[in-house]
Amino acid sequence: MTGTMGRILIVDLSTGTHREEIIPDEMYRSYLAGVGLGAAYLYEHIPAGADPLGPDNILGFVAGILTGTGALFSGRWLVVGKSPLTGGWGDANCGGTFGPGIKSCGYDAIFVHGQAERPVTIYADGSTVEIRDASHLWGLDAVETEARLIEAIGGKRVRVACIGQSGENRSLIAGIVNDRGRIAARSGLGAVMGSKNLKAIVLNGSQRVETADVPAMKRLNKAANALIPSSKAMAGIPGWILRVAGFFMKASPRVTRLDGLASLPAMRRWGTIAGNEVAVISGDAPVKNWAGSRRDYPSRHVNPDRITSHEIKKYHCYACPLGCGGIGEAEPRFEETHKLEYETATSFGALLLNTDLASMFTINELLNRAGLDSVSTGAVIALAIECFENGLIDKDDTGGLALSWGDSGSILWLVERIIAREGIGDVLADGVVRAVQRIGSGAEQYAIHAGGQELPMHDPRLDPIYGLHYVVEPTPGRHTIGSEMGYAMTRPWALVSWAPEMPRSEPVAGRYRVDDEKGLMAAANSILKMVVDGAGLCTFGVNMGVDRLPIFDYLNVATGWSLSPDDYMLIGKRVQTLRHLFNIKHGINPAAVTLSDRAAGRPPLERGPLKGRAIDIEGLRRSYWKAMGWDAETGVPGPDTLAELTLPAGN
Ligand code: SF4
Repeated sequence: MTGTMGRILIVDLSTGTHREEIIPDEMYRSYLAGVGLGAAYLYEHIPAGADPLGPDNILGFVAGILTGTGALFSGRWLVVGKSPLTGGWGDANCGGTFGPGIKSCGYDAIFVHGQAERPVTIYADGSTVEIRDASHLWGLDAVETEARLIEAIGGKRVRVACIGQSGENRSLIAGIVNDRGRIAARSGLGAVMGSKNLKAIVLNGSQRVETADVPAMKRLNKAANALIPSSKAMAGIPGWILRVAGFFMKASPRVTRLDGLASLPAMRRWGTIAGNEVAVISGDAPVKNWAGSRRDYPSRHVNPDRITSHEIKKYHCYACPLGCGGIGEAEPRFEETHKLEYETATSFGALLLNTDLASMFTINELLNRAGLDSVSTGAVIALAIECFENGLIDKDDTGGLALSWGDSGSILWLVERIIAREGIGDVLADGVVRAVQRIGSGAEQYAIHAGGQELPMHDPRLDPIYGLHYVVEPTPGRHTIGSEMGYAMTRPWALVSWAPEMPRSEPVAGRYRVDDEKGLMAAANSILKMVVDGAGLCTFGVNMGVDRLPIFDYLNVATGWSLSPDDYMLIGKRVQTLRHLFNIKHGINPAAVTLSDRAAGRPPLERGPLKGRAIDIEGLRRSYWKAMGWDAETGVPGPDTLAELTLPAGN
């Protein structure tokens, strides 16, 4: 079959053995590759109740069907496993060049079982697979590890995914790093890699990915590329102009349906930080651990021009025409760092009231090198500051240092302690839920999370569909699954028969309606995301709209299939339901996954753009479960749905 490599690599670190397995075509027709192939493999092979940091957990590195085909935006890969942070399904998505590296070795996925006795790397090049000693690399940060491995092997095609110190010391908010500091950050899967004593996976293959219809792929690429506005569209326009969008969103009693094409020039010019000021002004960005507002934090401090003025060069993932990334200066401590992303600029800016941009660059590079999730790290530092402010921890806990909002010195100090797992850093290094257990009674009110994972920097009190996905997503607390704005941009209704067309504008706040249509929209969001992650595409590309970035046609011309958009969405529904079943198999009660009160508006904020807003998270959840064919009260998929999806009944 074209598009895929038709094989996976399975490595058992406990026995020091490896083998390849042929994947039948029907498997790809049922699950695609990427997240779907990962879900099918992990659901079958991880026993119920397995310790996420024990040898029974499996870590999968998966590439999409489109990875390596040259389809635009096809440079994303995922790591999958049982999350030690939530105890359920875990996955994390990353860009760069590691995804094509997996396929260049002849595999669609690499699954790692067991635990090595000593630090090792896994090396593969298409003809050789070796488990190599990595004692000399243990203790190094991720950037240095990657540089040493590439230097030792030589050549331009070496790809590395590795852990830094935080994965080694099993911090439950650690991720896995590639391309000198890009992180598959969420779900704590860096700790799983550390528990396996696996420092790095090193790929050095040269195999090509076959495409069923190469001329058609080129035609699709050309047509999609022609729609992407050139960077000249924003030439000479200052970043502060973006504030206007924020003020418009804040002032309007209705949410206007946004065309995703309009967002691309700003993404091309600034990257995700184009949203910095918009988010603070509109209320999308949580401020002061979700209890503040823009009145506490002037948005100008994270003006995108201030950040890009430090940019040395642009950064593109594989096959990306947009290049939202960048490499910038991080003086005086580091020569350079990946450009701040919106999530990092907000979790170490507005969330902590930090206005010291230089500290954010330094922290960004420290987190990238240690392999720490910036969202979770910012959240746990916000918790610590609020606990200190309220007397739940004191200077005896912090080595004599006072913690306060906006104090970049103490924030930086905490980051370093968390990386080293020293003192208070050890208390905080496993995320907010474990930190609260260690700090004690009263601290839980300051721990903002869903299902054990810290919330990303998008406030559901502005866009309630974010909050819905935070609680129903098998990896809770994820902003990349969907939102009302995301639904508007991806436009599933243009091609999917059952997806409702989003109104041109929607009422907000007290007049926001929770109805079946909201559930259907959110179901379409999450199902489409499974197709996107099975294809290996970037969400920012899909934000053009599914009728403009031809995801379904891409899949057909890569594989030679002739499936309809509805057929692909049925596959996506199967994958989403299987990830959900994974959680049920591992003892998670879907109805018990909740959103922290503050983030749901309980009590509501008393000032700022989100003043007085609360969201009906239970009503939204019922509407989503119903749309997915899961029981509206318990969240358990019903027999008809399981039969429709040909998934196993019972766990
Ligand atoms: S838009 Fe950004 S994250 Fe997405 S593929 Fe391109 S460079 Fe990577």
